[in-house]
Amino acid sequence: MPIDPDFQKHRQVTMHDNLQVWKDSGSKFGIFGTDVAVDFDLCVGDGACIEVCPVNVFDWHYQGEDKKAIPSRERDCIYCFGCEAVCPKFAIRVTPVVKK
Ligand code: SF4
Repeated sequence: MPIDPDFQKHRQVTMHDNLQVWKDSGSKFGIFGTDVAVDFDLCVGDGACIEVCPVNVFDWHYQGEDKKAIPSRERDCIYCFGCEAVCPKFAIRVTPVVKK
C-alpha cells in the first residue's frame, strides 16, 4: 500500500516522539510533513529520496533499523517529484502549493 494521498482527510494530527504527525488507528509512527509528506510506517530508510533531492529537503531521523527520511525543509521543495519516483515503498506524497 502506498501513502494515502488523502491522508489529511483521513488522519488526525498528533504528537509522536516530539514530532507532529498524521495518524490513524493503524499507525505506529504516522505521516510526517504536509507539502512533502513521508509515511514513516512505509519508509524503509534506503535513502533514495535523500540522494535524489536537488535542494536537500530530507534529513535522517532516528537511527539504525528504524531510521526514516524526514522532510525537514519541505518549504524548500521545487516539486521535481524525484523523491516520489525513487521511493521503493511509495511512501512519499508531494503536493504542490502556491507559495506566497
Ligand atoms: S519533489 Fe524534488 S525538490 Fe521536492 S522534496 Fe522531492 S526530490 Fe526534493
